[in-house]
Amino acid sequence: MERERDELELTPWSGEFKDRLQERHFRQSVRDDTAELLRTAMLVGALMFLLLGLADHALLGPSASFWQLLGLRLLVSAGCLLTWWAVRRDPDLTFRFLPLNPVIWLGCTVIILIVPLRPETIGTHAPATAVAVMALYLFVPNRIPWMVAANLYLTLGFLTAMTVWAGVPGSVILIQGIVLGFANTVGWLTARRLARLRRQQYASLLDERAFCQRLQGEIQERKRLEERLRHMAGTDELTGLDNRRRFFERADRALRRARRHGSPMTLCMIDLDHFKTINDRYGHATGDRVLVQVASQCRTHIRDIDLIGRFGGEEFVVALPDADLGQALEITERLRRRIEGLPHPDPAAGDRLTVTIGISRVEADEDALGPALKRADEALYRGKAIGRNVVMVAGHDEGPHLSVVDG
Ligand code: GH3
Ligand code: MG
Ligand code: MG
Repeated sequence: MERERDELELTPWSGEFKDRLQERHFRQSVRDDTAELLRTAMLVGALMFLLLGLADHALLGPSASFWQLLGLRLLVSAGCLLTWWAVRRDPDLTFRFLPLNPVIWLGCTVIILIVPLRPETIGTHAPATAVAVMALYLFVPNRIPWMVAANLYLTLGFLTAMTVWAGVPGSVILIQGIVLGFANTVGWLTARRLARLRRQQYASLLDERAFCQRLQGEIQERKRLEERLRHMAGTDELTGLDNRRRFFERADRALRRARRHGSPMTLCMIDLDHFKTINDRYGHATGDRVLVQVASQCRTHIRDIDLIGRFGGEEFVVALPDADLGQALEITERLRRRIEGLPHPDPAAGDRLTVTIGISRVEADEDALGPALKRADEALYRGKAIGRNVVMVAGHDEGPHLSVVDG
């Protein structure tokens, strides 16, 4: 934070950023605007120097002084047009010393040389020079140190020329000195103020941008956390399956879809057989591993459109949209055999991991899953009663498929 403030500090007399990199970024950000302003200033400058040639002609006639002045004016105008063209081609030249500054110095030289070439017009030329000083500070975009140097050259050169060639009393030179000194002070203070304001504006823009970025980052992070929380709220921590709440949200939606399309839907309850024995014999951690293994098998061996959740403890619930009892029986029977083939925590004991499954169709007149779930549960318990490791269909007293009975 401290460093950031240093980077945004401005030099007192030129109004530029003390930090060079920051200054470079600022110039880059205002480059195109400033280049346009500079091009306009160059066109106006070229035009003004040429037009004042008419005044020379009116005052001097086609004399040697006129032709000398005209040559100098053409040189300055050509310099202005060259700068206009160069900046148009490469706007990065806007803040460089070349080509602008030699043209400005040349222009200043012409203003100074007007004094010996047209000494009798000193009365209008002197205030015009003060205007030129102001224009150089306020109209031509240039770095303040270079502005000050060019204007001091113009001021001192003009006062010297007045003293040597104009033949005016010392008091007039003193007044002109004060006027030009005043123009320089006002011009420099105003140019510096503008430079400072623009940079302060840029700095607050950067602040604002950084703040927005931070805010954006926080919003993203919050969204990520919310998403994670939402995921966690609906996920069973151990198996990674949907928990009961999320499962029923999804299954309810699936049932509504099935109703709209007039397609069947079947519910299955899956319960591990003698799971308590596994916990008791091999420990709770082994029991957990078995639960994870069985959950993963179930997830893998149902279809993509099917839904599965952990109902609680060692019981899982599966919804099979678009499946009638025959298809459901096929899917669950395949699943039962897969689980039977899973490695037992203690292969030497000769036991197998098995599940008992109860299935029930959601009847056409049912708008909720509760009744079908109850029938699937009852079927499951009938399966337990007849010896486990079996798929039982609700409404069939005999198991439609009696599997190898456990033990
Ligand atoms: P049955 O064949 O009749 O279903 O017998 P069972 O032993 O599987 O059924 P029971 O309801 O008697 O025991 C279920 C056991 O599941 C009891 C409980 O300790 C265990 N259990 C429930 N949740 C977890 C769990 O998250 N991890 C572990 N390791 N065991 C659990
Ligand atoms: Mg149970
Ligand atoms: Mg059990």
